[in-house]
Amino acid sequence: AVFARVIEGPVVIPFSFEVYPPRSAAAAAELPATIDALAAAGPEFISVTFGAGGSSRDSSLEALRYVRENTAVKPMAHLTCVGSSHAEAGLLIRRFLDAGITSFLALRGDLPHDVDGAAAPLGDLGSAGELVQLIHRVQAERVPYTEVQLPGLPHAAQVDRHRAKVTVAVAAFPNGHPRSRFDGQDVDALLAKQAAGATLAITQLFFEAEHYLAFVDRARAAGVTIPILPGVMPVTSASRLRRIAELAELTPPPRLLAALEAAGTDEQRFAVGVENAVALASAVTAGGAPGIHLYTFNRHEAVLTVLAELGLVPASAPKYGTRNKESA
Ligand code: FAD
Repeated sequence: AVFARVIEGPVVIPFSFEVYPPRSAAAAAELPATIDALAAAGPEFISVTFGAGGSSRDSSLEALRYVRENTAVKPMAHLTCVGSSHAEAGLLIRRFLDAGITSFLALRGDLPHDVDGAAAPLGDLGSAGELVQLIHRVQAERVPYTEVQLPGLPHAAQVDRHRAKVTVAVAAFPNGHPRSRFDGQDVDALLAKQAAGATLAITQLFFEAEHYLAFVDRARAAGVTIPILPGVMPVTSASRLRRIAELAELTPPPRLLAALEAAGTDEQRFAVGVENAVALASAVTAGGAPGIHLYTFNRHEAVLTVLAELGLVPASAPKYGTRNKESA
């Protein structure tokens, strides 16, 4: 019996989380406990967003350091390049590498809404693809490779073997980026980011599984081979749904909006948001998604309940709690 093994277990679907850097002292005090709870679930990585223009540089770094030094989970740093010169972007990358961060999500970022894009300096880097290349270049210059001639291996392979690796993910837009100028531009942009050295894509929110699955089909047909992780968010209030839909420039799905509006208590809204995220995650994984990336809004209860209902973490994960009284 000691040697008995379960041969066929449940399908293991990897998952990961996104948090944002705290914007107040009170939020900063709460984040470590949230990260601890998320980390205990065993994600592949926890990513930390970055305020375009560098506004959150120090608080992002602090959250990433917390993940790196206090959990067994890999931290992933979002970085944006809009408005930066080449030299500034290089220094920023160096600073994150010096802090021990080796996993990035390279983004172009957006100018603030009140800034006129035509007049404002967009910076030297016009797209996320150029940032992907710059991250690889900075790392290559920073870590000198050890040239060891091993018999039978070409020189390039030697260089690769002895250089500490960075991994760079990028964003993908199943419903099209709001600024896309033609159908297919988002697939072309993703292909360019892959060519620049990205090894993973994470999607913007989408509200129908079919939108993600059709985008992946189009990307594969165009030659995109990197995994495309669906970004899923349990949305537990109507006001938050309206706000995130506005930010992503998407129409909020009428049925979900109506269900959140009809729910009379926080607990009911929590259940509606969780149920919707579980349905979306189930549909995309059934359709072949390589995992689930959960937007947490710096709260662990909803995302851990989603994972518990998907059977990916033990059902003892905390359910609705008093800390989940979210405002949009
Ligand atoms: P790009 O990939 O460079 O371009 C976006 C789109 O523009 C493309 O899909 C394509 O349609 C078009 N495009 C690309 N290249 C060209 C070109 N050469 N000419 C014309 N059009 C082109 N923002 C933040 O500020 N901080 C964050 O932490 C953050 N995290 C995010 C995480 C995820 C998973 C996602 C999906 C988005 C995130 N964003 C974040 C938002 C992101 O910065 C914006 O969506 C931004 O508008 C585009 O960034 P990008 O990296 O996709 O840009």
